[in-house]
Amino acid sequence: MVQGRKMAKRKAADGARRAKPGAKRRKRSPEKVRRAAKTLPRAAGATPKRVGTILGKLDEAYPAASCELKHENPFQLLISTILSAQCTDERVNQVTQTLFPKYPTAQHFAYANARELQQEIRPTGFFRNKTKSIMGASKKILEEFGGEVPRTMEEMLTLPGVARKTANVVLGSAYGMASGIVVDTHVQRLSKRLDLTRQTDPKKIEQELMGIIPQEKWILFSHQLIWHGRRVCQARKPRCLECNLERVCYSKDKT
Ligand code: SF4
Repeated sequence: MVQGRKMAKRKAADGARRAKPGAKRRKRSPEKVRRAAKTLPRAAGATPKRVGTILGKLDEAYPAASCELKHENPFQLLISTILSAQCTDERVNQVTQTLFPKYPTAQHFAYANARELQQEIRPTGFFRNKTKSIMGASKKILEEFGGEVPRTMEEMLTLPGVARKTANVVLGSAYGMASGIVVDTHVQRLSKRLDLTRQTDPKKIEQELMGIIPQEKWILFSHQLIWHGRRVCQARKPRCLECNLERVCYSKDKT
């Protein structure tokens, strides 16, 4: 009996410890997100047939689209993704070419000289905030995740400077886990031009895309839209004559 009470106490304590880091966050499985997405008003262009045609065209044009941030492990991809906010991947890759050899582990970033690090990442912009995020995330990874970048969306979102976009990039490209769809500026613009969504808030755009794109395509689809946005469907002057989606696209931005 006494042993039973002790066991119950231990279980309750373990439960409290486990619940603490994400206690305020509501865990939502991809299936729940997909169900919630069904309640959003659908864009007229998001019919299964049309979505299938668009996915087929993207596969034809970019069968091997992938992340363009250079990295050798999940931690480097996390740092590069934080640096890529409001900055081109090309610029980030230039900076990390010298940054990663100097700071090879989370420990090196966690206990870096903040002023020195600020100057080293300065070319990527917003260098003070990015330094705070990088050092904060590195410390948390060391102290709470045994030095490894976590593998769940819930845990990723506890890292300083990490929101769903960054978490999706790392979980998708470093771990091959389809936890959501990366919604960056290209995905926002293109999903609107292709009439896959009429939402403007990135979270709602992601939710809606998750409701119409099969989960096994989430990772590749994000990369394909980003590649198409960089190479063809550019913000100011979309190159519609070169676009293999031209027949299914009725965007008012078409040239
Ligand atoms: S046709 Fe033009 S606007 Fe439409 S997706 Fe292609 S490049 Fe973009």
